[in-house]
Amino acid sequence: MYLIDTHAHLDMIKSLTPTEAVEKSAREDVRYIINVGTSIEGSKRSVEFSRRFPGVYSSIGLHPHDAGGFGKREEDELENILAGINIDIQGRHGSGYGKDEGRGTAPAKLVAVGETGLDFYRDLSPRPDQERAFASQIELALKHDLPVIIHDRDAHKETIGVVKNYASSPAFRAVVHCFSGDVNFALQCLELGLFISFTGVITFPNAGTLRQVVKEVPLERMFMETDSPFLAPRQKRGRENYPGYVRYVAGEIAGVKEMPFEEVARTTSQNAQDFFKIGNWR
Ligand SMILES: [Zn+2]
Ligand SMILES: [Zn+2]
Repeated sequence: MYLIDTHAHLDMIKSLTPTEAVEKSAREDVRYIINVGTSIEGSKRSVEFSRRFPGVYSSIGLHPHDAGGFGKREEDELENILAGINIDIQGRHGSGYGKDEGRGTAPAKLVAVGETGLDFYRDLSPRPDQERAFASQIELALKHDLPVIIHDRDAHKETIGVVKNYASSPAFRAVVHCFSGDVNFALQCLELGLFISFTGVITFPNAGTLRQVVKEVPLERMFMETDSPFLAPRQKRGRENYPGYVRYVAGEIAGVKEMPFEEVARTTSQNAQDFFKIGNWR
């Protein structure tokens, strides 16, 4: 039995170094962590982490909060990160991959684009910029045959609007992370082929609507995440979150769905491994 935290920001955790967070999580049965970039610098760090830690995978992208002024320069920066990895892959084959010859030789294990999407709750960037950045990153993902990690806060209708433009493309795969809508929105997402990912928010006393969503969404369509260092579960309220706490998300899902913890762990881990191609990474 093991768990996967499909969404963490290791570089934002203050109480633990990335190494400590990874090691401590492993002792809590967290076998894989996807580290998610929110800025260009953060995306570079994300790839550094996935090269350094065997159990860490990376996603690169620009958060809607950082989408202000999004344009060609940002597109190129993200493309460059992907291009750099392709060069390494070729170099790796040529120079004997696996010998651990230092930087650049370990696989980058980049498995997704994001987080990207729309945040109309905090509105830290102009909405047209958020929408442009979102569409551009979906196109980047399609071009590189990668799934998209979607951030949606108070923008359910608009998120669906953007997704609909791409949902018919066979290469399009996406997950709504830190799901915050109701059952109706969840059903719309499922119908469009999206996956749904839950955080420790489902453990909060006032999260009845969200627990209803957990009940309705098939286990086969969901992932678990912490969104560390944010959103610590009820049991660890007031503390900084880290990937080891994903077990509380699993515990809550098991309780709501009235099924064994082990089954929740096994099925959601399998979902995430298939979706992100974790474990059998090229
Ligand atoms: Zn987010
Ligand atoms: Zn996040």
